[in-house]
Amino acid sequence: MEGAGSLGFVERKAGVGKIAVIGAGASGMMAAITAARSGGDVTVFEKNERVGKKILATGNGKCNFSNKDLSINHYYGNRDKLKACFDTFSGEDTLHFFQQAGMLVKEKRGCLYPWSEQASTVLDILRKEMKDVKTELSAEVKGISRDKKTGRFIISTLSGKEKEGYDAVILACGGCAAPKTGSDGGGFVLAKRMGHHIVPTVPALVQLRCKDGFLKAVAGVRCEARISLYEIGKEDRLVQEEEGELQFTDYGISGIPVFQLSRQAAYLMYEGRNAAAVIDLLPQMDGSTYDAMCMDRLRMAEDKTLEGFLLGLGNKKINLMLIKEAGYKPGDVAKGFGERQLKTLLLSYKNLRVHLLSANSFEHAQTTAGGVDFSEVTEGLESLKAPGLYFAGEILDVDGRCGGYNLQWAWTSGYIAGKNAAKRACMKREV
Ligand SMILES: Cc1cc2nc3c(=O)[nH]c(=O)nc-3n(C[C@H](O)[C@H](O)[C@H](O)COP(=O)(O)OP(=O)(O)OC[C@H]3O[C@@H](n4cnc5c(N)ncnc54)[C@H](O)[C@@H]3O)c2cc1C
Repeated sequence: MEGAGSLGFVERKAGVGKIAVIGAGASGMMAAITAARSGGDVTVFEKNERVGKKILATGNGKCNFSNKDLSINHYYGNRDKLKACFDTFSGEDTLHFFQQAGMLVKEKRGCLYPWSEQASTVLDILRKEMKDVKTELSAEVKGISRDKKTGRFIISTLSGKEKEGYDAVILACGGCAAPKTGSDGGGFVLAKRMGHHIVPTVPALVQLRCKDGFLKAVAGVRCEARISLYEIGKEDRLVQEEEGELQFTDYGISGIPVFQLSRQAAYLMYEGRNAAAVIDLLPQMDGSTYDAMCMDRLRMAEDKTLEGFLLGLGNKKINLMLIKEAGYKPGDVAKGFGERQLKTLLLSYKNLRVHLLSANSFEHAQTTAGGVDFSEVTEGLESLKAPGLYFAGEILDVDGRCGGYNLQWAWTSGYIAGKNAAKRACMKREV
């Protein structure tokens, strides 16, 4: 496959081969732009009344569109195939694409944003670059079939309209995350009908719901924490550990570290396993530092109440919740407890266990884990079940960590699908 080097776009006269792109999200728009620049006659079908709705919501409206560190360790999916994809269209190619269109870029701890910190900048650029692409809005695709004589694709929309004569089709309908933006899982139905297996889907980059009622008392508190996800069985198994700003909610836990392990937690619970998270509220304090802190505190306990004994360790709401959970009262005098009891109270700061109930729903998720089986597509993202059909974006069984990785996958897979669809469509027409 041709590398993107200087983006590898081949200037050709439009109108050679016809390509349909289904879905105008990040991946579909990139696929359409690439296919049109490669000489294809491209039509995008989008069920919403406008393109790129989800892009505007990304990065809290600032759009974290990529990351400086694009190691494939930040992704879930077939490693070899992912490596081949990122070798074809890398983070640098993404930067080049947006910078060539005039966008200045800002970096924050490796995460890349438009200088304007407005997601609308990214969307405006994509829309401008789609100048050679036909767009059908409010056009929900309900069926893809083939003309038996010509082998070309026919696209049927919800309104009953049929459009025929497509040499290639790119499915870029997204997954199930944030269905209000248009991605409601309908793409999986289309892929299934074309013969594809769908790897079970779960919400990812999402909050976790917990069984523990005590969380209500600390709802709204944010603090630095280390969170360890365990599968609970005969012997607890550590699955993943993350550090960062944790947010307590009245139903569970949220924040970046929770998002980062939510995928693994969601699959554990999908498989009917028990899962728990152990929260260390003093992540920077380990070993001898922690022991010394405990000794100091025990020495200074004197006539303090338990509330006074914990004062200064962390958020007041957390202190009060831990005292209550231990079965004590904030006004109890510390001296009335043995050293072991006080040490156990302090230890709950490093060892707060919450029992997971479920991942929050797709409505709240940033991405979808699972999707069209990656082993059923080529490195060029063409279907092995239905030649001429290509996939891009979240619809595939690929998902990344928080930090710009999912949009980067949309750009990379969109470019590859667009490039190869155009190659096939144009070759077919030339015969
Ligand atoms: C709140 C939020 C914040 C996020 N922030 C970031 C971030 O900062 N950085 C990052 O990397 N990732 C982020 N993500 C994830 C990222 O936005 C997605 O992974 C990415 O946009 C997926 O692109 P896509 O093109 O595959 O799918 P989508 O963007 O979901 O686009 C699919 C499109 O297809 C259309 N469609 C679906 N079915 C049909 C049909 N049958 N016919 C016609 N059209 C159809 C939909 O209407 C939609 O427009 C965020 C996600 C959310 C929800």
